[in-house]
Amino acid sequence: MKEISKIKEAKLWIKPHLKKGLRIGFVPTMGALHEGHLRLIRQSKQENDITVCSIFVNPVQFNNPDDLAKYPRNIVQDARMLKSNGCDMLFSPEVEEMYPDGKTPNNDIEFGMLDKVMEGKFRPGHFKGVVIVVRKLFDILSPSNAYFGKKDYQQLMVITRMKEILGLPVNIIGCETVREDDGLAMSSRNLRLTIGERQVARRIFEVLCKVREKGSKTPVWELKEWANKKIQEDSRFRVEYFEIAERETLMPIENWGQKTQAVALTAVYLGDVRLIDNVELFS
Ligand code: AMP
Repeated sequence: MKEISKIKEAKLWIKPHLKKGLRIGFVPTMGALHEGHLRLIRQSKQENDITVCSIFVNPVQFNNPDDLAKYPRNIVQDARMLKSNGCDMLFSPEVEEMYPDGKTPNNDIEFGMLDKVMEGKFRPGHFKGVVIVVRKLFDILSPSNAYFGKKDYQQLMVITRMKEILGLPVNIIGCETVREDDGLAMSSRNLRLTIGERQVARRIFEVLCKVREKGSKTPVWELKEWANKKIQEDSRFRVEYFEIAERETLMPIENWGQKTQAVALTAVYLGDVRLIDNVELFS
């Protein structure tokens, strides 16, 4: 596996593959890799000629400096995992390489409410940062297919919309959330849970599953109220939001009406670790 940290070198490495008409699959990450990331790598390998992974802890998408400082980093182990899963190239630039002199590219895309609800509301500027970095990475690596996890459902919708608005020649592919045996969605942030917190973390997915089960038999407001209460029965949990929304627009649903394509999404603090998860309803 080729390891590259400079933009110029990455473009040079990609160029001959593009010339040959090879399909480049791309998996953007922030590292501290786990099976969730590796599943994306393996899917990319199946569907493309070349697979590239990026590791970049993108400072401009963190609204909380403490979260950025505590974000786990383990590039040596990450590179080993990527290599053994057949990744062809790892692009891991420094911050100065991506944003020289601390300057970030302009981002003037209008997403309407899509980037303002839920994660957009509680992490102001987060999606602006995500869009800046993904757009820049697409520009450097020219992927045919780019792989994103449904674990970050709103991010997947924002990137899909960005592709449509800019008319980018890349397919955005959403991949199912990979979970631990007890149902907890795999996340680099899980490493920050204490042993006690890790043991109870399954509650988030359990409540989401129960909401899926109750489904449209229960009014939306009642489901949301029940879910909030149920998660917070254990005082170590604090729900930031629990929302039921249309899948593509992520506009909150107030009553079921004709809506058949919904998703339940939540962000929960367990101790001081912020976890997000979601399940699609009625699929
Ligand atoms: P991150 O490193 O957290 O920015 O994640 C990089 C990519 O991996 C994003 O597209 C995430 O949605 C995806 N991802 C992270 N965790 C999981 C998971 N448990 N299952 C599926 N995809 C995931």
